[in-house]
Amino acid sequence: MPHTKHDFDLFVVGGGSAGVRAARVAASLGARVALCEDKALGGTCVNVGCVPKKLMVLGAHFADEWRDAAGFGWSVEPPRHDWQRLISNKDAEIARLNGVYARLLQDRGVKVWMGRARIAGAHRVEVVDAQGGSTVVTAHKVLVATGGEPVRPNVPGSERVWVSDDIFHLPEMPARVLVVGGGYIAVELAGVFAGYGASVTQIYRGALFLRGFDRDVRAHLDEQMRKKGIDLRFHRDLARVDSAPSGALAATLDDGSTLEVDGVLAAIGRVPRSSGMGLEEAGVELDARGAVRVDASFQTSVPWIYAAGDVIDRVQLTPVALAEGTLIAQHLFGGASRVPDYDLIPSAVFSNPPIATVGMTEEEARAELGAIDVYKSTFTAMKATLGGRGDRVLMKLVVERSTDRVVGVHMVGADAAEILQGFAVALRCGATKAQFDATIGIHPSAAEELVTLRERCQEPDHAVSVTHPEGRTKRVVHHRWERGSGS
Ligand code: NDP
Repeated sequence: MPHTKHDFDLFVVGGGSAGVRAARVAASLGARVALCEDKALGGTCVNVGCVPKKLMVLGAHFADEWRDAAGFGWSVEPPRHDWQRLISNKDAEIARLNGVYARLLQDRGVKVWMGRARIAGAHRVEVVDAQGGSTVVTAHKVLVATGGEPVRPNVPGSERVWVSDDIFHLPEMPARVLVVGGGYIAVELAGVFAGYGASVTQIYRGALFLRGFDRDVRAHLDEQMRKKGIDLRFHRDLARVDSAPSGALAATLDDGSTLEVDGVLAAIGRVPRSSGMGLEEAGVELDARGAVRVDASFQTSVPWIYAAGDVIDRVQLTPVALAEGTLIAQHLFGGASRVPDYDLIPSAVFSNPPIATVGMTEEEARAELGAIDVYKSTFTAMKATLGGRGDRVLMKLVVERSTDRVVGVHMVGADAAEILQGFAVALRCGATKAQFDATIGIHPSAAEELVTLRERCQEPDHAVSVTHPEGRTKRVVHHRWERGSGS
């Protein structure tokens, strides 16, 4: 590509998923690229999000595994957990990944600054490094990929409350935790704390957590989390947090009740990180939540400034930010103009048990498509039969009746994310229920359930118990919905 008169063809503000991807792809297309990051390369996902969270989730699941092991004949000493070892091993892995990101950028010839960047005039960016040294460079295009940050609750004593960023560096495991919120982070970290042995209370302001997910999925997780001993309280919110005489915290809820806990985690959403970098002064339009407004090609209201990832507040998921970063680089430097496709984005919630989902919820499908068929099965997975934990798996298909197209696949249970990734490909290919049925299952597996849901019942909530060939007992529920029928 022809180089511009500027110091750089692209200056990326933010070294997270969107920024690093855009920088690498742009550089591989011949652009001269700089990137500035004020915390750590890899952004939220690598440092205080997906990666450390998943490591902690994996570790927490051992608690279930020990219990299962006894049912399979193993004698297991009462396990003890060393929180500091977990944190230091996790930190070492994150440091390794930070290095991988640095090398990936270096190998592509991207100039990396560790410091804060701000727009300092047309095509000008000022970088202030950790020592306070200032450098001003010019850039043909700027990409704002500064991500988001957790919201703190607006209650007295909120300075005593942790947000998700804090959890990854706690010096010790709290014995009693109050989790506030009912989204991804709240249910995931409630499961993490419970897995490591904490007594966990989770409060959510609405009637049932995980708003926006399929209702059966939400209800199933509610039941499973309660079975694991998590004290779930809905229609409850946090009113204040004080120091308790014992040195612990006294959390007061909106019904006046108090809980003595060792930590309060607020997971009540994340907001775009768009202030303090001269965006508004440069004329970049933000929305009411502070998200940078962009068009279909990620261009802001200032033609030389682009934005992607959590800072545009479309879909706060790493793979989406990666896709956005790629599209921008290809659009600016590769001559390709593809618009982003936000349809059929699969996602997982690494709760215990985990959720994975792709496509429409039953509620969305009923409202948007009219007549649909719903196929649903809950069963005890094979491992849990001898393990004796009693965890139940939920699998659910939502099918558009007029076309037989499977429009939604939902699962709650072990390995949900691993299982549903492939089904996301099937949905993208427009697979029909008949094609699901024609697919031979992998036996014995939980996943085969999704290609063996044959029976269609006319009556909503008709349930039958059958014995699965692999010996587990399952409760099969098939629905047939008309628009607006049932709940
Ligand atoms: P979410 O937006 O998912 O959930 C926020 C929760 O907090 C909701 O239950 C919301 O309730 C509640 N809430 C919002 N404001 C208040 C308030 N003032 N008082 C009390 N409760 C409140 O945010 P998270 O922080 O959990 O996660 C942020 C995003 O990060 C997610 O949306 C997701 O995109 C991404 N993420 C993805 C993960 C994954 O892929 N596995 C893991 C973690 C995060 P209500 O529903 O009533 O609005």
